[in-house]
Amino acid sequence: MSTFWGPDFDQLQATDPEVAQGLLDELQRQRSGLQLIASENFASPAVLAVQGSVLTNKYAEGYPGRRYYGGCEEVIDPLEQLAIDRAKQLFGADHANVQPHSGASANIAAYFATVKPGEKVLAMSLADGGHLTHGMKINFSGKWFDIVSYGVREDTETIDMDQVRALALEHRPKLIIAGWSAYPRQLDFPAFRAIADEVDAVLLCDAAHFIGLVAGRVHPSPVPYCDIVTFTTHKTLRGPRGAIILTNERWAKAIDKAVFPGTQGGPLEHVIAAKAVALREAMDPGFAAYAQRILDDIRALADGLTERGYRITSGGTDTHLFLADVTAKGLTGAQAESRCDAAGIVLNKNAIPFDTNPPAVASGIRAGASCVATQGMGPEELTHVAGLVDRALMGSDEDRAQVRGEVGDLVKRFPAYPTGADH
Ligand SMILES: *Cc1c(COP(=O)(O)O)cnc(C)c1O
Repeated sequence: MSTFWGPDFDQLQATDPEVAQGLLDELQRQRSGLQLIASENFASPAVLAVQGSVLTNKYAEGYPGRRYYGGCEEVIDPLEQLAIDRAKQLFGADHANVQPHSGASANIAAYFATVKPGEKVLAMSLADGGHLTHGMKINFSGKWFDIVSYGVREDTETIDMDQVRALALEHRPKLIIAGWSAYPRQLDFPAFRAIADEVDAVLLCDAAHFIGLVAGRVHPSPVPYCDIVTFTTHKTLRGPRGAIILTNERWAKAIDKAVFPGTQGGPLEHVIAAKAVALREAMDPGFAAYAQRILDDIRALADGLTERGYRITSGGTDTHLFLADVTAKGLTGAQAESRCDAAGIVLNKNAIPFDTNPPAVASGIRAGASCVATQGMGPEELTHVAGLVDRALMGSDEDRAQVRGEVGDLVKRFPAYPTGADH
């Protein structure tokens, strides 16, 4: 008798060959291209295994020790507690809620715990790199809250803390959000804290993108400065899709109530256990090396593109991503994205600060180094990749076909997942 039931690919192929083929095709796609999407990563086989487990069957509304369902005490409670304890330990937080299904869900809970509909929230403008949950008009945040946006300065393309403070003093927001989806610089957490204190606002950091760099100790931690920190577990942290909320004693109860029953039902215990695995992986010394490699890699790529005449917004990066303005090369972001795609290089078009093109066209591209760093590529490889990106963007269809072949050679040396002899 098998003692473990886990992902059984042969069974899937027998039951549903169409979906099984989709999985094979997607694995092949992830392996054969160069993945430069800043929000993506390659979760480990251990993280993947937990998610395909029987934990998916269990209802566990509530929290460890106080559930609304039986059958949780023996296994589910200790596993969720493990994830909680590891999150608290890794980030030095008083309290962790590991149940949010996604980064957006975590932010919904953070709003739910701290502000009432109609109240003022100060957050980063979408056009300047904020997330849609930071006040986009057709998102819950924009529909239900009175959003005031801060942005970046036109001359430096960095956040102007004087502007943040002036807006805070003028509008007296109840909640201030520090965080971004497309901004290449570190945030000034002490300055955000001082402003929040001055106007008596709650300070939320949305660390969705850069939390893996914090875990790897190559980026300052928002935890000592912020009342609440939300983050996704699948971007630089390299875990399962989902999110975690860290907070202090003051907000612990409100956050837990806001997640359940405020905004979610049953937690995804198979994903929570996978979060525990990812947190354990993040405590390994190898993770710090990965985090440092991300920074080395992204700088090598940014420098290589700068040398070839591309403008990196804000003049560089101190995170895992950058935005490159491609208009000086006579391209739009959309054209750049599709040319890279044709060459096997996967990245996304992105608005740059003060963009004159509509968002669906955009003037820039966003590139991140999480995936390539996970694959073990170093700055030498990324310097080479800069040349490949340039040829993909400026060359002919023939050049792009040739680059695609070279991309194939490169990723074969750094496979995304262990490959057998048959691959
Ligand atoms: C990615 C991201 C989120 C949302 O995460 P999902 O899991 O896609 O909902 C929230 N905030 C920021 C800043 C992000 O970059």
